[in-house]
Amino acid sequence: MIPFNIPPLTGKEPEYVQKAIASRKICGDGEFCLKCTKWFADTYETPVLLTPSCTHALEMAAILCGIKEGDEVILPSYTFASTADAFVMRGARLVFVDIRPDTMNIDETLIEEAVTSETKAIAVMHYGGVACEMEKINDITHRHGLYVVEDSAQCAMARYKGRLLGTLGDYGCLSFHETKNFSMGEGGAIIINRADDLERAEIIREKGTDRSRFYRGQIDKYTWRDAGSSYLPNEFGCAYLYAQLELAEKITAERVRLADTYRERLSELEKRGDAEFQRIPGYCEPNGHLFYIKTENLEVRTRLIAFLRDKGIIAPFHYVPLHSAPAGQKYGRFSGEDRYTTRESSRLVRLPMYYGLTESDQSFVCECVNEFFGIGGTK
Ligand SMILES: *Cc1c(COP(=O)(O)O)cnc(C)c1O
Repeated sequence: MIPFNIPPLTGKEPEYVQKAIASRKICGDGEFCLKCTKWFADTYETPVLLTPSCTHALEMAAILCGIKEGDEVILPSYTFASTADAFVMRGARLVFVDIRPDTMNIDETLIEEAVTSETKAIAVMHYGGVACEMEKINDITHRHGLYVVEDSAQCAMARYKGRLLGTLGDYGCLSFHETKNFSMGEGGAIIINRADDLERAEIIREKGTDRSRFYRGQIDKYTWRDAGSSYLPNEFGCAYLYAQLELAEKITAERVRLADTYRERLSELEKRGDAEFQRIPGYCEPNGHLFYIKTENLEVRTRLIAFLRDKGIIAPFHYVPLHSAPAGQKYGRFSGEDRYTTRESSRLVRLPMYYGLTESDQSFVCECVNEFFGIGGTK
């Protein structure tokens, strides 16, 4: 059996989790949480706060944007529910924009026509760590005075024109769910690119109090200052995550290599027109988060998934467009025509991808996919 994903394990995790237990300080912002926070702040060169998930980070971003009842938020329909949830929970209406078929990201050329007088923010999602066209998107948002939230859940270490994804808009949100490149089981982070917002973000994260400043010794007692919640991750997860951050470059390089290997070993499919791969525009440095192929249509995809399953390989499809889901219909509308969202999402299938995927397992996956399309093998 070759699973789709196995959470990363570098070897140091048990030692670090044990250390966290022994420290007798296991609540939020403990030693490992602060180590991870510092690692991100140094790497991303901007303040980063760890959260219990990317979903929570997105919620914080929606609060920081000041989203209120009746505001509109523009986003792709081809994304995870969390991108939408954070804004819907604050009363926003969703305006879905079509994707580009080459990257599966929001089509930047269609955003401007979706802007209305109610539009408050744009939530972009960089699919598989391949960046949206952020320069063009930021140009639109500057002209219209809109916030940009980057759902960078899949993007740790991925870049756009040399800059890390999550640092290009107002707020970036990372995920450390077990399916992501770096994991702590459940976890995330918010990247704060507006320096003035850091204090407010810390207060929202600490139940509306200024306890973060108190812990740093900047004030001698803490006070309830604003409405907030508890967006602190637990210390055991942070200890697990830190082991991977120490090997961040290695994990990323390994995943990029796996993606390149798929691309190479399956190249015949593309040449023959049996399938298409993710396009990586020249301005992107991806992080090998995922590798997918797009078959001719849904029917071929369904047969391919079943064929691989019979061989013991788990290859899942991905998002069912939000605008076709009950909540999407209730909270949003599609701006313009759905030319690609439904069509492209129905032919996409992801292949096994994880840190530690062995060469022989990956070869077997490639052989099976090629065999399905009648390339090589024994068919
Ligand atoms: C994984 C993912 C999320 C949710 O992350 P959690 O940490 O599980 O909350 C949100 N958006 C996208 C695009 C994701 O891939």
